[in-house]
Amino acid sequence: MSRNFKGGVHPPENKELTKDKPIEQFESVPGYVYIPLQMHAGKPAVPVVGEGDEVKTGQLIARAQDGISANVHSSVTGRVVAIEKKKPLPNGAKGDWLVIEAQQEDEWELLPEIDWKEATPAELKERAFEAGIVGMGGAAFPTHIKLSPPKPVDTFILNAAECEPFLTCDYRLLVEKPRQVLEGMMALMKAVGVQKGFIGIESNKADVVRTLEREIAAIPYGDIKVKILPTRYPQGSEKQLIYAITGRKVPLGGLPHDVGVLVNNVGTAYAFYQSLKFGKPLVERVITVSGKVSKPGNYRVRIGTSFRFVLEQVGYVVEEGRVVAGGPMMGVAQSTLDVPVVKGTSGIILLGKEDFYVPSSMTEFNCIRCSRCVDVCPMNLVPTTIAFYAVRRKFEDAKKWGAMACIECGSCAYACPAKLPLVQAIRYAKQVIRVMR
Ligand code: SF4
Ligand code: SF4
Repeated sequence: MSRNFKGGVHPPENKELTKDKPIEQFESVPGYVYIPLQMHAGKPAVPVVGEGDEVKTGQLIARAQDGISANVHSSVTGRVVAIEKKKPLPNGAKGDWLVIEAQQEDEWELLPEIDWKEATPAELKERAFEAGIVGMGGAAFPTHIKLSPPKPVDTFILNAAECEPFLTCDYRLLVEKPRQVLEGMMALMKAVGVQKGFIGIESNKADVVRTLEREIAAIPYGDIKVKILPTRYPQGSEKQLIYAITGRKVPLGGLPHDVGVLVNNVGTAYAFYQSLKFGKPLVERVITVSGKVSKPGNYRVRIGTSFRFVLEQVGYVVEEGRVVAGGPMMGVAQSTLDVPVVKGTSGIILLGKEDFYVPSSMTEFNCIRCSRCVDVCPMNLVPTTIAFYAVRRKFEDAKKWGAMACIECGSCAYACPAKLPLVQAIRYAKQVIRVMR
């Protein structure tokens, strides 16, 4: 039995658009890719190639710095034509990127293959580092760091909840590559010395559970169970997922390892397996492209491909629409299509104007005191009060009311009948409080 977390919402799923669409690859390679040096939490990678250098697909082009950072590899075979500064990234930040002119044929530079069953935990962690593996659910935390938690962990959770509306890329990987995802999960478990594992999946994807259980039975490793969870947003948020599956509560400001748990998502497990079995660094990923596009689907896309190229391949009309990187609840609306797909990009969603609302001004605060935002907040916060202080720039008060505990799930803004920009205001307060620190 799984436990229900408090709060949450049921936005329209919109997964039927792509749920049954097998993963495809575009016929042509983009003429140029734009590969950011920072596609991960922590410090940017440092380029090891320069303008004019020829590169192969899979070649290291930027090396991780000491501390929290990740390697970056070329996703195409071609020539580096520029290193450009302060370019727009899909998370709304700016960063430097390498522009590579691509040829249509790939010449690969691969890492040596590793049999995870024979490898030591140290070898597996080293591979996660070499291959530039990061969390692919959005946060993009470097996996090799996650595999060395500062506290002992006894439980691994594969996050297959995919609770954001529209997104189905993880689901398709489970349908089409269950063995590879599962072996990736087992290799991650082995790297951190954990025997007990769970796959947390929402009930709207229960059709894949039998396949997963069959695959688990076929490979003897550890004690892995599939947990079917209620379909409720934000089920896939780490803290809610851990509570639903184990009953353990991650303390405020804490991390999963504080309660002995390590969480990784489906895309990460798959990418890790690819790096072990085929020696492929993380140079491509599966994304969902959906919404108001002619060919919604799940596509294997090279890292650094521009959103513009992706949308041109699937056919789109942008008329008062909005392009979002990720899902519509936690994703980031884009002001330009000249941003690249990065390691943490799970989807590109084109919303029509009827699919989103423009929140009222940050300076107006016409709260009708209905308490819906409080009811739906999975973190037990009082969103209206935190946002009230945030819009008045009373950041100390916003902090006292728990702004930093907000997971930015957007449930409060979704539920608010006055359409107040609650999550936007709280996110702003968090940014200011971090700077004040
Ligand atoms: S306050 Fe934060 S955690 Fe709570 S519902 Fe709003 S966005 Fe989600
Ligand atoms: S949901 Fe909106 S209107 Fe209702 S209490 Fe919260 S902020 Fe106020």
